[in-house]
Amino acid sequence: MQKYDLLIVGAGVTGLSSAYHIKKDNPDLNICIVDKWSTYAQGNTAKSDAAFRDVFTSDTNYKLASSSISFYKSIQAGGFNLGMHFNGYLFLMNHRNLNSPAVQSLLRKVKSKVLSREEISELGIKTDPDPEAAKIMGLRNIDGGFVGENCGIMEPDLLASYYVKELESMGVEFRYNTLATRLNLSPSSKLNFPGEPFIWQDKIIESVETKSGELFADHFLLATDVWTSDLTSPLGIDPFIQPKKVQVFQVQGNGIVEMIRRKVTGEEDIFPFTILPGPSIDLRPDPKSRTFWVSYSEGIGRGFSLEENPMAESDYYSNNLYPVLREYIPAIEDSRIMSSWAGYYSMNNMDGTYVLERNMNLSVVTGSSGSGIMKADAAGRLASSLYSGKEKAKLYGGTEIRVSNLGISTRRVDQETLII
Ligand SMILES: Cc1cc2nc3c(=O)[nH]c(=O)nc-3n(C[C@H](O)[C@H](O)[C@H](O)COP(=O)(O)OP(=O)(O)OC[C@H]3O[C@@H](n4cnc5c(N)ncnc54)[C@H](O)[C@@H]3O)c2cc1C
Repeated sequence: MQKYDLLIVGAGVTGLSSAYHIKKDNPDLNICIVDKWSTYAQGNTAKSDAAFRDVFTSDTNYKLASSSISFYKSIQAGGFNLGMHFNGYLFLMNHRNLNSPAVQSLLRKVKSKVLSREEISELGIKTDPDPEAAKIMGLRNIDGGFVGENCGIMEPDLLASYYVKELESMGVEFRYNTLATRLNLSPSSKLNFPGEPFIWQDKIIESVETKSGELFADHFLLATDVWTSDLTSPLGIDPFIQPKKVQVFQVQGNGIVEMIRRKVTGEEDIFPFTILPGPSIDLRPDPKSRTFWVSYSEGIGRGFSLEENPMAESDYYSNNLYPVLREYIPAIEDSRIMSSWAGYYSMNNMDGTYVLERNMNLSVVTGSSGSGIMKADAAGRLASSLYSGKEKAKLYGGTEIRVSNLGISTRRVDQETLII
């Protein structure tokens, strides 16, 4: 019987970054990562827009994202391409929002600049939607915008492949096509009586059942995103997350090809990742295909549900997104959908950031809430401290964060007001 020191379930960015930092901090550990799919990063990591920003009002979010961005930047500067482009994150707003205390304090906190209506028009964005349409759909005029400059887009498969390369060179084992079906609870000191563990016995996770047999370890870490409760619910552990479906539509057109080259920040001619006012539909430029990826993260109206292979709904684009887009982006009128896909946000609805919780010899890292790419490095450093029982994690750049702040019963995360 082979027994690992640590078995990680989930080879998305969270599991990979966690494994990377745990192994770096504990080089002698014998670590195995299992995933149900045939290779790494096939879950929500593959579905991501992979935009990054340090523009957050919550101090916790700011620390997690800004330190991760700096770490990724250092990897790319060291010669490993992560597809990072600092093309900016543009928030389009009316006067009231632009002058709000939250936005004004952000402007002082992060590298950013304000854009005028004229500058926004030059990007190919119509600042005043048709009054009739605006009335029906509750659309707002765009009075200005602000662009976060330490922000942009990257490629999640490249980030994942960086971690995999490092993990392989450190001797971490990968087992793909390995669905974990159950965590086996056992008494920490066995009496070998039928019905163990009894309520008066200390418990541990002894093994995980998989399609290819039982795997044993001293410690288990779940980086299983929206699938976490499949494994924790039978144990009576609640990870406090819900799956929320998010769809992405890749749109192409001559006008879009022109727009993609217009920039507001950075060295490259790439349109900023842009969030429209009203329904905060976002436009993610894809410089390679010269298309926009359009998506929207719904609140009320989109239930919590989970399908194994979620698909984008074609009438969703035409009924919900297109009527709004047409009012702000004239180039959309001669565009067409090239492809579409859907994935899930692992939503922590308390405050919209990661949840890290440890029970017995089981660590859980989930709840990335639609921002797991931009925060994965920090999540991995927190996971390493959680594993080692350290009070604090040191993020890239030296900022410290208390691990229990991201826990469930011990949670201390300030509210984010800039939720997209
Ligand atoms: C449409 C969309 C747009 C997004 N846009 C952004 C963005 O712009 N910026 C950003 O930072 N984030 C974004 N995100 C969020 C980001 O993609 C996620 O936060 C991140 O990928 C989560 O990584 P993960 O490793 O936790 O989860 P996943 O990538 O889902 O990995 C979990 C892994 O666990 C495995 N697994 C689960 N259960 C089991 C089991 N029982 N047995 C074996 N394997 C198991 C799965 O196969 C999977 O590979 C977006 C997400 C979506 C869906």
